[in-house]
Amino acid sequence: MAKYKYQEHLVSSNVPAFDKEWQPGQIPPNSGIYRCKTCGDEIALGKGQALPRDHHQHPVLGPVAWVMLVFAQEHPK
Ligand SMILES: [Zn+2]
Repeated sequence: MAKYKYQEHLVSSNVPAFDKEWQPGQIPPNSGIYRCKTCGDEIALGKGQALPRDHHQHPVLGPVAWVMLVFAQEHPK
């Protein structure tokens, strides 16, 4: 489970992007922390990066499906 200390730097959001499932190898538009729905592993993903294909597998548990847990937001300048 993702942890944080300073609550003032995080805000809850109900945007639909949090409900979309991503498959291994896909490139989500948002950088941030993604969670595997099947095993609970969390990974950090940079902008333009693909979700892991080969180094995250669990044939016994079932197929890998990623959902966004936290996304990183650029501060307006
Ligand atoms: Zn997994």
